[in-house]
Amino acid sequence: MSATGADRLSSVLRGDHHVHSTFSDDARSTLAENIAAASAAGLETVRLTDHVRASTTWVPEFVAAVAAERIPDGLTVLTGVEAKLLDAAGSVDLPEGLVVGRGGVDAVVIGDHQFPGVDGPWSPTMTRERLAAGLSEDDALDLMIEASIRAMERTPHAQLAHWFSILPKVGLDESQLGAQRLLAWAQAAAATGTIVEVNEKWDCPGPEAIAALLVAGARIVASTDSHVAADVGRYERVPALLEAGARAAAGETEEAR
Ligand SMILES: [Zn+2]
Ligand SMILES: [Zn+2]
Repeated sequence: MSATGADRLSSVLRGDHHVHSTFSDDARSTLAENIAAASAAGLETVRLTDHVRASTTWVPEFVAAVAAERIPDGLTVLTGVEAKLLDAAGSVDLPEGLVVGRGGVDAVVIGDHQFPGVDGPWSPTMTRERLAAGLSEDDALDLMIEASIRAMERTPHAQLAHWFSILPKVGLDESQLGAQRLLAWAQAAAATGTIVEVNEKWDCPGPEAIAALLVAGARIVASTDSHVAADVGRYERVPALLEAGARAAAGETEEAR
């Protein structure tokens, strides 16, 4: 890999863009513990991110609590709320009146926690049943890509969390997406300014998707999706994904010449 490629990867690894605190009911560390852990891990950037849904009311308290934290020198603290992709039209399960940008959170972190069906979210079981009942795998993959693109178009300041983690849950595999779908997805990320995570916990997206993002010029960040401060900024799987993605992208560029 070229020196610039290696530099770019190591700078990505100096951020952790998806870190949960006790504002999420399934996480154990406080905002202060996560900030201290990010600084101790030598990170330059951390995005404090907690789970919301339409009924969530605590986002203003979360924003105020982050603003009240003392931030160590050399660390930039960003915020986000993680909400699920709901349907093929790209709607996202966000609280009404959510402020994103000045005075609010910095990003909407969209999670593919359910399959985006035409009539609303399908659980993995429902999706498997529909596939067994005749929904073709190609149609399901098209739905996933269309929903992703619509969500990016509809959601300013979006970041895709652990994208395509839903596919194995429904019995599909990222490798089935193919170059054309990945290209459309990656171009939409670049065109809308959507940030895409390479996620340690879910080990995704894979090298072909990362390569498509690199070729399209989309912004890639690393994330642990930590639920405890000890995990903040600790990457075991992300470096290999990024390197494989960069190699695949270099191959594609080579072929295009
Ligand atoms: Zn998630
Ligand atoms: Zn998460």
